[in-house]
Amino acid sequence: MRSFTTFDLQYAHRFYGFKGEAQYLHGHTGVLTIEVEDSINPGVNMVFPCNEIQKTAWALLKNFDHALILREDDPLLPSVLAVYEAQGIKNGAPTNTMKGEAFKTELATAYPDCRLVVTKETMTVEGMIKIVYDLLKDKLNIAKITFTSGVNAASQEYKPVGTMDRCPRCGIALVDGACPKCGYKKH
Ligand SMILES: [Zn+2]
Ligand SMILES: [Zn+2]
Repeated sequence: MRSFTTFDLQYAHRFYGFKGEAQYLHGHTGVLTIEVEDSINPGVNMVFPCNEIQKTAWALLKNFDHALILREDDPLLPSVLAVYEAQGIKNGAPTNTMKGEAFKTELATAYPDCRLVVTKETMTVEGMIKIVYDLLKDKLNIAKITFTSGVNAASQEYKPVGTMDRCPRCGIALVDGACPKCGYKKH
């Protein structure tokens, strides 16, 4: 069975080099759905607690929320950074508190201090799905990711890798046979 959860992401981007209005900077509220597949954990009668999927995913996905997302070869990137630098906000500001964990993958690099994500490919809904899978594939048994933004929508199914050992009391993934939340130990 599957547990799934949905996130709203508000961001600005553009499709650099695209021949259409999306080549201009604009904003969206994107809706991301992550489906996790596993056996039902009999202890809690759940596949996985959805608030835990939220917590795990949001730690990284927060970087895309209220952020500017630019492709690495977009000439806007050095211009924006130069303005932030001149303003003294490139390396952060006291009011910038909603920061996620900085990350760098082959597809994207997050700069939480200046609310920027730099991507290798254009950040279409398809591009976002690839980025999210890459960020979370080792943390969650992902079966499907769906992303919608304006009239654009895409989804991708994945083959979840095996089953995850989960706490029979909390439902969360065990770390080295122990529950990081309640201390339960698997014999
Ligand atoms: Zn757009
Ligand atoms: Zn537990």
